[in-house]
Amino acid sequence: MTAHTHSTAIELSEPAPAEVAAGSELMLKIKLTCAADCDLHNLPLTITSPDDTAPAVRHINDSGAVTLRIPPKVGPQSFTIAFGPHEADDIRHEPCALSLTINSIPHGTSLAVWDIPSPIVKGERFTIKVGAKSAANAELNGLEIAVFDNSDKVAARGRLRDTTWPGTSALYWDEVELTAPTEEGLRKWSVRFAAEGLALPHDGTAAGFSAMVARPPEHRLTVKVIERQSKQPIEDVQVRLGPFRGRPVPGRDRSDRHRRSDDAEGHVRSPRLEDSLRGAGPFDRDQGRSFDRG
Ligand SMILES: [Zn+2]
Repeated sequence: MTAHTHSTAIELSEPAPAEVAAGSELMLKIKLTCAADCDLHNLPLTITSPDDTAPAVRHINDSGAVTLRIPPKVGPQSFTIAFGPHEADDIRHEPCALSLTINSIPHGTSLAVWDIPSPIVKGERFTIKVGAKSAANAELNGLEIAVFDNSDKVAARGRLRDTTWPGTSALYWDEVELTAPTEEGLRKWSVRFAAEGLALPHDGTAAGFSAMVARPPEHRLTVKVIERQSKQPIEDVQVRLGPFRGRPVPGRDRSDRHRRSDDAEGHVRSPRLEDSLRGAGPFDRDQGRSFDRG
């Protein structure tokens, strides 16, 4: 026979987040109180979640939170966190319960495209590398990526390889071969990753890249770089020549920019090549874009 009955109440002590990634765990801050101020925090709670056939028994931890496991599916997920009734030492604590709905959302993904050759020769095959990563570091090997051309047609497909890109834990990648368009100029592609078929729901993603399409080379150049004072050839110099036509810099003498001179050994030296070597190094892709074509 119970001597006393105490009413109880359960509530969130901090608001629950509106959205939580599917399949993750949420620490939910809970306040369980007794009308007569008994300490109830050691008593068990039962949590009913959408995926569980039987309610799980959990305790409030030292920081006042219980773990809520979000099912690995997308959409609103409803939970009930219930206490009691509980009887001990002639005191009966009445039951109480809290219901809440959490919106379960897909994990994000991201795409990277690299090793894009520039320029590419019109009509010829070229390769790019494409990598995809899950925000939850999920294994993405075997999933398909597709490259679309400017007119939104599939230009190539790839399948993410079994091993991640060296030095990364979750960047899955593939090398994709494409055929360059037959028109010259800057061309754009988009890479799309649907991220379908994973145990954890993921959102797909897309990324774009562009490359300059050029005519096949018309000349073969031999470049020799000579040290100015000693006139000695310099070894291991990186030289990059692009199909870009220089634009006169305003205020600068055009004849100087296009001046070429023969050095002592009769090799052609280009002021622009010297500029490039003196500066940040070989042309990079961004520099290339700053030159007008035509
Ligand atoms: Zn009490």
